[in-house]
Amino acid sequence: MLGTDDEWATIRSAGHRETFYTDAMEGSSSPLARDCAAAIEVAPPEARAAAAQDALDVLAVAAGIKPFAAVGWGFDSTAFRVAIAAAAARAGLAAFDGPPWIGESGNSGQSWYDEALCEDLAATQLLFVGPPRSEAALRRLAGSRLGVSEEAGVLGYPLCCVKEFHRRQRLFHLITRRMIGRQAQGDETLKRRLARARAMLTPKTETELKLLLRATRMIFAPFTSIAMCRACEADSGSAARILSARFEALSGDVAAALRRAG
Ligand SMILES: [Zn+2]
Repeated sequence: MLGTDDEWATIRSAGHRETFYTDAMEGSSSPLARDCAAAIEVAPPEARAAAAQDALDVLAVAAGIKPFAAVGWGFDSTAFRVAIAAAAARAGLAAFDGPPWIGESGNSGQSWYDEALCEDLAATQLLFVGPPRSEAALRRLAGSRLGVSEEAGVLGYPLCCVKEFHRRQRLFHLITRRMIGRQAQGDETLKRRLARARAMLTPKTETELKLLLRATRMIFAPFTSIAMCRACEADSGSAARILSARFEALSGDVAAALRRAG
């Protein structure tokens, strides 16, 4: 179980009380922004876009517009995580290494599949970054199970987008299980093995392909890692778009690195 609502509220409001955050808002001239821009350079070239996004997320945490950042999800670069951990420590932010949390779509009720997903997540190392003195909350966050509301709160993302992301993920997992089932032809051991190996399977029918494309379609709000829901995507004044503009304003250096890499 994660922190109580009171604890979360305290952590979040801390971001708006301290002058620390005003310093972080100075953009490209802040030491944290410079450290983050330097950290991006140690990530492998193919991961630079993702690394730049993560670095910008860390600046958003420092600026108090994002409660927590999960650094290194989707790419593996120990050097980048170490550099960001050092940057966070210098800036007085809390940081903790641990496995990702398991979101709502990580529970399908099919144990052979869910166990494979959990093993995969447990073997992944992320760096969690939060505001000063949030170490205990970060520790609880690592490897936890989060419902959509809790996850939206942790990330500081609109609930509508987090909900739709998990709806798509559930669809993705459903199609994947269907494809694995077809390939394994009722062989339970093979099913588990294919799920663990995260075997790339090919859709067989037009409908399956269409569903797979729908499930994996992600349009990110620029300068954020928010996979937008259709409503936010369509509306220039939506919650995701407004956050996007706040992220863009954060740092010249990091935003420029993101533009270069993307
Ligand atoms: Zn949305």
